[in-house]
Amino acid sequence: MVFTRCYIGLGSNLQNPEAQIDQALNALALVPDSRLTAVSSLYRSAPLGPSDQPDYLNAVAMFDTRLAALALLDALQAIEQQQGRVRERHWGPRTIDLDLLLYGAEQIDLPRLQVPHPQMLLRSFVLVPLVELAPELRLPDGSGLQQALLDGDRTGLVKLRPLRLS
Ligand code: ATP
Ligand code: CA
Ligand code: CA
Repeated sequence: MVFTRCYIGLGSNLQNPEAQIDQALNALALVPDSRLTAVSSLYRSAPLGPSDQPDYLNAVAMFDTRLAALALLDALQAIEQQQGRVRERHWGPRTIDLDLLLYGAEQIDLPRLQVPHPQMLLRSFVLVPLVELAPELRLPDGSGLQQALLDGDRTGLVKLRPLRLS
């Protein structure tokens, strides 16, 4: 099977978010049958939903894989578990959140997995790092990212520094 190019959104706002993002990138680099190809800069964003929680750190990774989409989701959720993620409130604070944004040009609508991630174009903390990584990217419906970027509200989003893959 050929590699499928995916994009993964990373977010953390608990227990040393910088270290959580680094740890998740290291774990992604070890996922079988896959290559962690590139990563955006690190960003800081104001929380979505409940505002009585710390700011988030976010990044987007480019990830090439031979895994099927659901197997990749399993791998992402295993990394969340390894990093002690506990699900409490909806959109509440978390050590690490790994969202599968895009899986090649596939559109997936299963109870466990919707791809493209339904909210991705509406979230500047996803869209801005994604455009940084892949400005020419097209979604499965053929649309680009530039219009969403122009329409988006970037309030509360700050670019911090480049991230390196080790
Ligand atoms: P949001 O999806 O709005 O960003 P969230 O990341 O806080 O919210 P979670 O609690 O992390 O939501 O995930 C809830 C469920 O979403 C997961 O159990 C997973 O099965 C499902 N899910 C559906 N589509 C995706 C996707 N593209 N990437 C990751 N999880 C997904
Ligand atoms: Ca999320
Ligand atoms: Ca998630």
